[in-house]
Order: sequence, then structure tokens, then C-alpha cells
Amino acid sequence: MSQIDENIKRINCEIPEGVTLIAVTKHRSIQEIQKAVECGVFDLGENRVQELMEKYEHFDSRIRWHLIGHLQKNKVKYIVGKVHLIHSVDSIALAEEIDRQSRKQELVTDILIQVNVSGEESKFGISPEETESVMDTLSGFRNIRVLGLMTIAPNVDNLEALKQIFTETYQIYDKIKKNEKRYLNIRMNYLSMGMTNDYMTAIESGSNMVRIGTGIFG
Ligand SMILES: *Cc1c(COP(=O)(O)O)cnc(C)c1O
Repeated sequence: MSQIDENIKRINCEIPEGVTLIAVTKHRSIQEIQKAVECGVFDLGENRVQELMEKYEHFDSRIRWHLIGHLQKNKVKYIVGKVHLIHSVDSIALAEEIDRQSRKQELVTDILIQVNVSGEESKFGISPEETESVMDTLSGFRNIRVLGLMTIAPNVDNLEALKQIFTETYQIYDKIKKNEKRYLNIRMNYLSMGMTNDYMTAIESGSNMVRIGTGIFG
């Protein structure tokens, strides 16, 4: 058994049913990614449009591609219709462009809103205070569907600090979920948080979608 097989088996045993595992494939070769697919992982995450487009050609339609990194408006047109879920929508202007490109192609694109809960300046995302009013605005867009929230925790060892950030994100998610019936195109189904170093903490705090790179591919 290869190391990738072993890692995926271990992670699949650790994460509860109902949590989606996304294998983060940035900087990985096609052969490495194929190994993960052979283990039954069909959700793949890339953080750059260029790399996603190059890899896209090598895989069949079983693969659900997730864009998890910062997205520039001028690149939206390349991925609409190809990507299963965009996790990193961090502004109304970006959502508007996804809506516009989706309308051109007569389809609806599923997105998550990235929330910058840690408040680090280096991180993209909407502030917790703004998140609900952003939902109000996005509810007017017909060619996007907001399916949840995403956050990236800071790279710290402090478990309590991590828990606090994940819990705060869950609370924002839950609050919007309780009001989602007000909106036609907002359904809080996914809370995307947790990476190699913090996914169990994230799941304990309410995550149902984890994005794991190093933990799978080494
Ligand atoms: C790279 C990346 C991951 C995976 O990180 P690992 O620590 O390798 O698991 C998850 N989410 C985002 C947004 C990333 O860019």
C-alpha cells in the first residue's frame, strides 16, 4: 500500500460520516492525484485557477473540483461551468462577477463565503460583522447559490485560540442557517474549515468539509 493510500484510509477512519474530505492537490503531480482518486476521493481542491485548469483536463467527470484559494474577478470566466464549488468568495464584487458569468452560460454556480474570523490582515474574507448583510445582498443574485461558509484558521499551536475561531465561524453559520428560509438562493449546507493540522478540532467545532493536502500527499 502506498503512503497516499494509508493516509486516506487513516483520515477516513478519523472523520465522521457526513464530513466531506477534499484532497488539496496544489503542487501535486497527476500521478499522485490519481492515487487519491483510486482510493475513492473524488473531491479535489486547488487554490489557483491556472493549476486547476491544467489538471482538469486529466480527469473525468466523476471529479468535483473545488476552488479554495483567492479568486481574481478576471479569472472567473475560466472556471464557471467547470468547478463544483467555489469556497473563497470574499467580496460582493466577486460574487457579482460569478453571477454574471454564470448567467452568460445559463447555469447556477455554487459558492461559499469566506469569512476572516481571525482578523489577520494577511487573510482574505469578509468580516464576521458584515457577513449577514452580505447574505442580504447576495440573495438578489439569481445565478449563484450560497451553500455555506469557509474559513482558514491561523497557523498556531494554541488549541484554545483555534477552537475559538472555529466556534465563532460555526455560530455565524448557524445564525444564518436559522434565517435561510428568508432567502431563495442561500442554503447553509457546508461549513468548510479544517486543514492537516487542525481538522479534528474543526470537526469538533461543527465543520462538515475539511481540506487536506499535506496529511494526504505528505
Ligand atoms: C493548501 C491549502 C489547504 C491544505 O493545507 P494542508 O495544511 O496541506 O492540509 C487547505 N485550504 C487552503 C485554502 C489551502 O490553500
